[in-house]
Amino acid sequence: MIDRLGRNITYLRISVTDKCNLRCRYCMPEDGVCKKEHTDMLTEDEIIHAVEVAAELGITKIRITGGEPLVKKNIVSICRRTAAVEGIKEVCLTTNGVLLPQLAKPLKEAGVKRLNLSLDTLQPDKYAYITRIGKMDTFRAGLDAAYAAGFEKIKINSVLIGGFNDDEIEAMANLTLEYPLDMRFIELMPMYDSGDFGIDAYLPYSKVLEKLPEAVAVPQDGGVAKLYRLPGAKGNIGLISPVSAHFCGECNRLRLTSDGKLKPCLHAADEYSIKGLDKAGMKAVFEKAIWNKPAWHGDLDAIHRSQAGRNMNEIGG
Ligand code: SAM
Ligand code: SF4
Repeated sequence: MIDRLGRNITYLRISVTDKCNLRCRYCMPEDGVCKKEHTDMLTEDEIIHAVEVAAELGITKIRITGGEPLVKKNIVSICRRTAAVEGIKEVCLTTNGVLLPQLAKPLKEAGVKRLNLSLDTLQPDKYAYITRIGKMDTFRAGLDAAYAAGFEKIKINSVLIGGFNDDEIEAMANLTLEYPLDMRFIELMPMYDSGDFGIDAYLPYSKVLEKLPEAVAVPQDGGVAKLYRLPGAKGNIGLISPVSAHFCGECNRLRLTSDGKLKPCLHAADEYSIKGLDKAGMKAVFEKAIWNKPAWHGDLDAIHRSQAGRNMNEIGG
């Protein structure tokens, strides 16, 4: 479906839970989420009905995210049913990788084509710090399981944080020399309550290019990342710049939270509830949310925080 500004909305990101087995400092508070009533959350059937409605309106790509989607007990079933919806061409999933040793193979068999894994540092002590409770060995086991399961594409997402991982940009980019993966650097976004990061933590994507003078630009692949490649690399470097160079004019996304709110913009306060509605009711709400998609996400920097009113674990990134 086309929004009122002519953007064709083809991509729905579904946060299936706001819960997580890590506590990344930029994403969620140390003491976790304030527990919502079970009855406030979308059921599996409601999620699938939403996907069916979305597909009828022209959505072809779904990303399953969270919170941590793999802590959701029925995640494999949700993925299998989503992939089977007529019109859905691609189901992808974003995960911290912790539960991939158990779930990579079933997810691949359920129809998930591509995986994004999140990793902000290559150093075990810094990984433990930024995730508050994570272990690097666990991440590695998850990555190995993802490769063994044979996903079509694996990408690593790394949030650029000044004073934390800007000294590892080259080392992380060099992963693309060793492995057939894309390494993506994402600018830190100032969410509602996403950690106590000072102004120097907000690095523009250009910082990555300064550190990688040999990287050459390659054509974009339909996503929002600007793509580069190191000579001899097996994968691309992706730069995602929601803060320093927003891409709202080309945004084709819609988001659905685990409590059933459609968000036409990651950083706007606008939310449209589909919880408890039948498919006809959902369709009307989808149409309204898409039509009213904001032109852009507003000022976003260390001082101007996101207007989303939620942390990233509740929206899905
Ligand atoms: N738990 C999964 C994971 O970490 O991959 C999926 C959900 S997580 C919210 C999705 C993505 O959002 C992750 O790559 C994470 O690094 C990113 N993210 C979370 N908070 C962010 C922030 N404040 N700024 C930029 N990216 C953020
Ligand atoms: Fe959990 Fe992902 Fe947020 Fe980290 S970024 S706390 S893994 S939801």
